[in-house]
Amino acid sequence: MVLRHQVRSPSKILIVDDILSNLRLLSMALSQAGYDVINVTSGTRAMMMMASERPDLILLDIQMPDLDGFSVCRQLHDNEATADIPIIFMSALAQVPDKLRAFSVGAADYITKPFQPAEVLVRIAHHLELGYLRRTLKTQNQKLRIILQQYELAEAQIHQTNQELEQRVLTRTNQLHKAMCILQQESHERQQAQAKLMHMAMYDSLTGLPNRTRLIELLEETVTQNPFPLNPQPLQSRWSALLMLDCDRFRTINDTLGHLQGDRLLMEIAARILVSVPTHGVAARLADDKFAILLPMGTTHTVITSLVQRLQQRIAAPIALGDHEITISAHVGVVLVDSSYCHAEHVLRDGSLALIQAKQKPEGWLVFQPEMHRRALHRLTLESQLRQALRQQQLQVFYQPIVTLTSPTTAAPIVGYEALVRWQPEGTSDFLSPADFIPLAEESDLISQLGNWVFRTVCEQLSQWHRAYPLQKIPFVSVNFSVRHLQGEQFVQQIDTVLKQTQVQPAWLKFEITENLLIGDTQAVFETLAQLRRWGIQISIDDFGTGYSSLSYLKQLPVDTLKIDRAFIKDMKSDRDNLKIVEAIVQLAQVLDLDVVAEGIETEWQAQQLINLGCSYGQGYLFSQPLDRIAAWNLLC
Ligand code: C2E
Ligand code: MG
Ligand code: MG
Repeated sequence: MVLRHQVRSPSKILIVDDILSNLRLLSMALSQAGYDVINVTSGTRAMMMMASERPDLILLDIQMPDLDGFSVCRQLHDNEATADIPIIFMSALAQVPDKLRAFSVGAADYITKPFQPAEVLVRIAHHLELGYLRRTLKTQNQKLRIILQQYELAEAQIHQTNQELEQRVLTRTNQLHKAMCILQQESHERQQAQAKLMHMAMYDSLTGLPNRTRLIELLEETVTQNPFPLNPQPLQSRWSALLMLDCDRFRTINDTLGHLQGDRLLMEIAARILVSVPTHGVAARLADDKFAILLPMGTTHTVITSLVQRLQQRIAAPIALGDHEITISAHVGVVLVDSSYCHAEHVLRDGSLALIQAKQKPEGWLVFQPEMHRRALHRLTLESQLRQALRQQQLQVFYQPIVTLTSPTTAAPIVGYEALVRWQPEGTSDFLSPADFIPLAEESDLISQLGNWVFRTVCEQLSQWHRAYPLQKIPFVSVNFSVRHLQGEQFVQQIDTVLKQTQVQPAWLKFEITENLLIGDTQAVFETLAQLRRWGIQISIDDFGTGYSSLSYLKQLPVDTLKIDRAFIKDMKSDRDNLKIVEAIVQLAQVLDLDVVAEGIETEWQAQQLINLGCSYGQGYLFSQPLDRIAAWNLLC
């Protein structure tokens, strides 16, 4: 049998025996077997020795003089530090009760004397091995216990960590939940704010109607969905249509009664429009007193007509505003939205054009025709070209002689010229008739710029002629002025400045004002004319007979000359009535002590008739076409 303890470091064996021969024999046998042997001869010495040594096994005799083996064994067994040292009793006592006692006090084995050393060695080896195994087991147990403790600790820590984690997850979940709630609330509030903003951006705050932006959106939908082909037969077709509407006198009422009443008026108009709009139609407010109605796909021309009339009637009904009862009327421009439209803005543009034209119509409404847009575009182009022409001095003044009517007409002496503006737009070979661009200029500030330019050009020309021939009697020049220009605040001042700068005498000038334009609010114009006349400028009423001048009105006017309109002269021969009208005008002028100039004389017969009627002056192609400044001057020389 190979004993494991033999391969380890020599085990320490304590032999306790009071019989020296036993001691020697055992000690020798054990030493020979490779053990480290300690011998003591009494129980007391054995206990003392245990304080400094720790044997791996004790061979203990029982019967010893001071302290017997049982006592030693019990003490060692009761002491925790020595309890695991295997103790083998070696005794001559061979009775069973002795053996039982030995085991009861902690003996590991019991060998009766006389002993056989070989047996003792085997038992020692066996108990050492057992002791080794026990210690190993104990160590393993301790390690296992430590591992178990560590495991339990780790488990406890994991448990605690888990609990902490769960708590943190719970806390975090709560925080997240709260954050989610706040976010949801914020998002809800943001959505509400956005909806409010959208509403403000899309709806008119006063009337609550969709505004221009919203209408454009709806119109965009209409133009992109419109299934109708280009140019269908308008009257039988079914349309989507835009009605554009505005009210006259709104500005005046707003300015007179105040903006509060103005707002009430607008709300009342909006309400009247709303009740008139058919189902699926949309009413909108575009600006100030400008409203629009968008009619859905499938609205017939008949429906549009009756809707417009209903609208006009409702809006025309009296409206109570505070102590006032007012009536206003509405004009309506209609656009039939066919598939030729690609942009909402174009529909609105054409609606505005139709609305402008509707104001000229007695019925107060009309349907847009493409021709209107072409005309408007042409006028716009013309206007900007005219502006440019003025800037770049592309205009000219022509002079048409005004003569004393004498027979024969070829000898008729020139008493004056009428200044007539001429414009040859860039890239064209013909002059454009003033009748084509003067009315256009009259719609804007252009007429004042143009009038000022013509007047300055004429004055510079007169000044030049007078300087060239200071002794010669130079004819006067008649200059046409638009009433709009005359009404300008700066007008008198501008005339005065030019007169001073060019040193032209007021007496060399006549101002021509068209009779038609003198009707209306003329007090300011009268005063201006009176002022000019005080300076010495003569005043002519142009195109006389075509307007509505009453006699009393004529009497009040600060005027020197009547110019009989060409229309009467032209048909004098064929239309006897015209001859009579001309005769009446001549007589009227004589009564009022005014000069008379007949315009548009083209024939000898006309000239002779006018002479016969007592008309002193004439103008027309019979005497001369309008001439450029050099030709006009040559006539004088
Ligand atoms: P108006 O002041 O009555 O000028 C007379 C017009 O009759 C001129 O036309 C002249 O060329 C034309 N005329 C003269 N004799 C005859 C004739 O025998 N037969 C025919 N068929 N026509 C004759 P024009 O130059 O085309 O001017 C048209 C109108 O434009 C003028 O009528 C005047 O109202 C306006 N106008 C012309 N120049 C100016 C200007 O510088 N300022 C303003 N405000 N208006 C102007
Ligand atoms: Mg004239
Ligand atoms: Mg005229």
